[in-house]
Amino acid sequence: MAHPRVLVIGAGMVGVHHALAAALADHPVVLVDSHHTPRGASYRNLGAIRISGRHPGGPLELAQYGNNRWAAIAARVPDVGYQRSGSVTLLHDEAELKVAEEYCEMYGDRIALDIVDDTLIHQVEPSITGTYRGALLCHDDAFIRPFEAVPALVTYLEHAEGVDIRLGTRIKSLEQTGGELVAHCSHGPPIHADVAFVCTGDALDSLFRDHLDEAPLTKVRLHSFEVAQTGPHPSMLVTDGSAFRVYPGFTELESARTLDRLEPAGVESIQWIVASSPDGSLLVGATAEVEQGHASNMPLEGSNWLARRTIRAFGRGAGSVIRRWSATVVDIDRSAQSDPYVALEPVPNVFLITGLGLLGNTLGPAIARQSIARISPDARDPLDQPPPPPPPRLRRYHRSKRPSLAGWRT
Ligand SMILES: Cc1cc2nc3c(=O)[nH]c(=O)nc-3n(C[C@H](O)[C@H](O)[C@H](O)COP(=O)(O)OP(=O)(O)OC[C@H]3O[C@@H](n4cnc5c(N)ncnc54)[C@H](O)[C@@H]3O)c2cc1C
Repeated sequence: MAHPRVLVIGAGMVGVHHALAAALADHPVVLVDSHHTPRGASYRNLGAIRISGRHPGGPLELAQYGNNRWAAIAARVPDVGYQRSGSVTLLHDEAELKVAEEYCEMYGDRIALDIVDDTLIHQVEPSITGTYRGALLCHDDAFIRPFEAVPALVTYLEHAEGVDIRLGTRIKSLEQTGGELVAHCSHGPPIHADVAFVCTGDALDSLFRDHLDEAPLTKVRLHSFEVAQTGPHPSMLVTDGSAFRVYPGFTELESARTLDRLEPAGVESIQWIVASSPDGSLLVGATAEVEQGHASNMPLEGSNWLARRTIRAFGRGAGSVIRRWSATVVDIDRSAQSDPYVALEPVPNVFLITGLGLLGNTLGPAIARQSIARISPDARDPLDQPPPPPPPRLRRYHRSKRPSLAGWRT
């Protein structure tokens, strides 16, 4: 079969990149999402494409491939708002400076990194008014406009040849019948396809949940809020040494072991990161593990901790909270598996892509390209720079007696 018909279930960040990669490789594509209007983590995130904090053999190569692919996509779809702005990681003390130095020493040949002292931070990123020990710069980091990137890609796909988009349609079940896949929908006729990619984000219980009972996956809730900013807004992503306690590329360093833990009451681990919203306000994000795992709101102590860091960096102009939101993502339990994500084939020719955690923007384009390479190894993709890194092997997990998502951290 020259160009198998592709069905993509889920029009979040991961699904739209699968639909795009399939369309670019000349597959007929149907992209389906249960909702008419944007929802889910892909519309409520910070838009960061983070290369810093990754390490080779982990998701670094995939993140770099994804970053370059974003640049190529943005040349066709400028409304995704891709900018290779770089990032500045503010260092509070000598211990954090040591981590930055060790990271540069280890990976400076593969990632564009620099360390600057306090006097230069303000030249590099004039919106920072606070005083720090120094800063780690990563020139490769980038961002997209989180609220606009996925809708922009959907609009682009609506005009692409061979792509059929069905929003407001939930896939209820998917089966192999008579040599093809048949997807039964909440309404409308069934969809016939040869290959399906299931990219349903945190809605893991919607399809093939049983096949994931034993998978090393966990659900993590991430929190964000938007604050008004009267001063200049940052052109780079801004984070601080809290990132050294969260990202594996940092936490695995010798020097990171001696860092103090950061624990506002009720929060087990927390990271502060800020991006500029197109209207000039600040998007403040937290990767946080909340003690009472199911809390949908950040404990007050955690919010105050984030607010204090924001004011320290940007001054009192970083004021009132305009809105708050949070969403869950499915992440890999990294103590149990080193692959950057989970790819399963629960039914022949049905690929379930999950476990991207905090990396959906960063890895989405690369994973999609890997997925299409699985089904069409020789497909020519006009956005290909070098070919993508080989995909991780497909996993199979046994069914267990555990009946539900109980015990998952949300
Ligand atoms: C606050 C926050 C900040 C973040 N910041 C970053 C960041 O800076 N950088 C980064 O790389 N990542 C970040 N992330 C992570 C990133 O947002 C996720 O990894 C990514 O959005 C996951 O995309 P997805 O397509 O897998 O899932 P989703 O966005 O959840 O999309 C899944 C889609 O599937 C649809 N669906 C589900 N079941 C069905 C069905 N049966 N039939 C049809 N449709 C269905 C849903 O309606 C949904 O639209 C952040 C996440 C959050 C919450």
